[in-house]
Amino acid sequence: MNTAGTNPGDVQKEESMLLQKAMINANYDALSTAHEDGNKISSTFVPGNLNELLMCFDFVRNLPEINALQAGMRKKSGAYIMEAERSGHSEDVCTYVKTDLGMMSKGQVGPNGKPLPTPDVLLLSYTGCFTFMKWFELVRDEYGCETAMLHVPYQADGKITDNMRQFVVMQLKEHVIPTLERVSGIKFDIDRLREYLGESAKAEDNLVWVLQSAKNKPSPIDAYFGAIYYCGPIFSAFRGSKETTAYYKALRREVEDRIEKGLGPVTPEGLLDEERIRLVVEGPPNWTHFRDFWKMFYDEGVVVVASSYTKVGGVYDFGFRHDPEHPLETLADYCLGCYTNHSLPSRVDMLCNYMDEYEADGFLVNSIKSCNSFSAGQLLMLREIEERTGKPAGFIETDLVDPRYFSPANVKNRLESYFQMIEQKRLRPEDRSAA
Ligand code: SF4
Repeated sequence: MNTAGTNPGDVQKEESMLLQKAMINANYDALSTAHEDGNKISSTFVPGNLNELLMCFDFVRNLPEINALQAGMRKKSGAYIMEAERSGHSEDVCTYVKTDLGMMSKGQVGPNGKPLPTPDVLLLSYTGCFTFMKWFELVRDEYGCETAMLHVPYQADGKITDNMRQFVVMQLKEHVIPTLERVSGIKFDIDRLREYLGESAKAEDNLVWVLQSAKNKPSPIDAYFGAIYYCGPIFSAFRGSKETTAYYKALRREVEDRIEKGLGPVTPEGLLDEERIRLVVEGPPNWTHFRDFWKMFYDEGVVVVASSYTKVGGVYDFGFRHDPEHPLETLADYCLGCYTNHSLPSRVDMLCNYMDEYEADGFLVNSIKSCNSFSAGQLLMLREIEERTGKPAGFIETDLVDPRYFSPANVKNRLESYFQMIEQKRLRPEDRSAA
């Protein structure tokens, strides 16, 4: 299903992927030498990350989930997880946590091969996953560093109220900002924050444009495997910087070019030349076998046109943008609006909307064994979405970074049967006339 011209083993990369790689490498180098360079380090999680605020205090930003993901892709997470289990962490604990803890006990060596220094502050903005709290408690015990906690109320009724927003703003003013000022020794400057938020909004516009380009037929992007790279800068240490704005402009140009030429997504083996099936996917991907996993889709001409995972670091496609005119309120709205902070009914609505707007042929859940935050309720969501859209749904189970829970033959088998089911359903006259 891919254009020829690549040698086995060659990996085709988009220009924007190379740009992003350079940004990530530079950030890891800055982290490795932060203390020698006189800089402070913050550690924070992807959902609800307050990157623009951290930039106001010149923190070099560390994200433990990204370190765990990188360890998974580099096939190092298995050993780290075993190390954490040897020191008493159960098999059911989130494998990002165990990767991070195992990495710490093995010298905290980052993906650049250099040790990552101890963070100066842990900023915990709590958006929907209880594990985040336990994770930072363990890290705090180990390092004894300062912690700033931001409680973000859960969107149980599927909406953000002014009370919820004001509660988050109050904590930012009274606790988070004073802590960051004290640790960094830098006074908070709201105009600096406004400037970064303005850059974020520009980048978010282009990210949304890129994600929504999947409404085209053929889709010029894969909105799960490919889009994970597209979300990288905005979801991590870079949102709010000028280089991120430039990255998203470059990415948009690449995608515009593919649309003009009627081309499909770029896969690691080249351009996909025939789109046979369009899917919406729920749940995070597997990182330890990322390429093999993706190949199971593109070999069959399957393109993901929308996914929930590309919303974990911020839901932008329903209109939210960081707003420099209301700097603290917008940070609150951003945290409150993260995907993991949405109730199950709102997640179902969002996914049904994707099925419809992106004209998907099916809905697939990749359930992550050790991620309770995503996995809870997924079977119910699957049934509801199947019923509401009339499109076939599929279910597979893998893990984020534990190689023991990715069984290639099993996953491939299930996916192939599911893809066959979609094609057969398309051929049935009653489904054709209903379409
Ligand atoms: S349980 Fe899931 S959402 Fe929570 S920290 Fe682990 S991977 Fe992230």
